[in-house]
Amino acid sequence: MSALKQAFGGQIGLGGFGEGNVVKLDGGQRMRLDDKVDFWPRTQAWCTVGIEPPVEGLGMSSMLAFLKQARANAGRPVAEPVARESARKVTCNYCGKPAQLHGGLDVYPDRKDLEDRQFWVCWDCDAWVGCHRDSDLPFGELANEELRHARRAAHAAFDPVWQQGRMERPEAYAWLASELGIPREACQIGLMGLASCRRVPDIVWEKFGHLA
Ligand SMILES: [Zn+2]
Repeated sequence: MSALKQAFGGQIGLGGFGEGNVVKLDGGQRMRLDDKVDFWPRTQAWCTVGIEPPVEGLGMSSMLAFLKQARANAGRPVAEPVARESARKVTCNYCGKPAQLHGGLDVYPDRKDLEDRQFWVCWDCDAWVGCHRDSDLPFGELANEELRHARRAAHAAFDPVWQQGRMERPEAYAWLASELGIPREACQIGLMGLASCRRVPDIVWEKFGHLA
């Protein structure tokens, strides 16, 4: 996985802001939105640009609230992402309300590679799940920011095992599956729940120590 994907993967839900308004800076460490706010995905810190004194905050939600207010003040309110039609019924596993089907750019405006993919989204819960290619069949349950963060941490701990050649990739996943006590087919970090994800760093640590 590239450093850029590690920086942004699963972190940027900017529904309604549109690709053209997101500029990556510092090799992807910093994003400038609407030319108004700089956002650091790793720390979730944000800070306004060109306003004295600057406004600062922490977290996507407060940043997006600030940007929406700024756009509303400028007389061009943010368009809510438009949900797509689907006969399929998917429920948000956090709040129990119906999830909405969206194109990939509604969820990840900076990820042109996801343009053709679809996601089931609950904006209220800041939760979503991707669909199988050319389909609206979700990969599993929706994941909120807490779970997405846990999955990123699990990948960061586990991927060096095969990337550094400690094990071949299939062997590494088979080993992880047996440590977690789950079937090999279910051993995909992107499909794991919070409890499994949180065990992954400890499992890797116990066998290999710290892998940088
Ligand atoms: Zn929900």
